[in-house]
Amino acid sequence: MNTVSQVAAYIGAYYGGTGRRGIYFDWTFLLLIAGAVISMIASLAMRSATAKYETVRASSGLTGAQAAQVILERAGVRGVQIRPIQGHLTDHYDPRTKVVNLAEESFNKTSLTGIGVAAHECGHAIQDAEGYAPLRIRSSLVPVVNIGTNFSLPLFFIGIILSFQPLLTIGIVLFSLAVLFQLVTLPVEIDASRRAMKLLSSTGLLREEETQGARKVLTAAAMTYVAALLTSVLQLLRLILIARGTSRDD
Ligand SMILES: [Zn+2]
Repeated sequence: MNTVSQVAAYIGAYYGGTGRRGIYFDWTFLLLIAGAVISMIASLAMRSATAKYETVRASSGLTGAQAAQVILERAGVRGVQIRPIQGHLTDHYDPRTKVVNLAEESFNKTSLTGIGVAAHECGHAIQDAEGYAPLRIRSSLVPVVNIGTNFSLPLFFIGIILSFQPLLTIGIVLFSLAVLFQLVTLPVEIDASRRAMKLLSSTGLLREEETQGARKVLTAAAMTYVAALLTSVLQLLRLILIARGTSRDD
């Protein structure tokens, strides 16, 4: 969610709480708080797992970048570059440029976190090379979703201020697209981690006991996507409840 949307959400919280009947407690705001708590717990769990296994060296001594090289070769994926990128946990695969971007921490050092994350990003590169359907659907949704995330909440809350029902409906439809995007993201992420774990074992990059650490990191990362989806579903539910309340007031 960007800043504009966030501001709109808070304005909305205010207008949701003051109607023609005067100020009353807007209980749907609790849905936002529940979402924020779920996201925070998932994010803390991921930070804790990544931090813990960042300090555990892999017995192979390979860096994340070297591990990624081995995995891509083993999977027969060609034409994919592996590059370092600034920031912490900024690792991602870019299907447009065919680059596995690894945070410097994963790129340069050896750790269970670094190798696990590198393998996960290679999982995305393999999905791309295979034309894995959920990844293709996800990529094709990106432009629509950008519109959705930028305009859904502002339009929705302008609709509330103007008491103009069609704007509320448009806001909800646009927001639903963002939820759909997060729904499609789940299988893409879980599949990338599944491929990563298989490759880490089959290539011998990690020993049996080491794979447990990498698995914990990747599971925690997957949970952040589940939490993001849950948070958005709660937010969507809130918009629907507010819209229904508004139409009843009219
Ligand atoms: Zn991923």
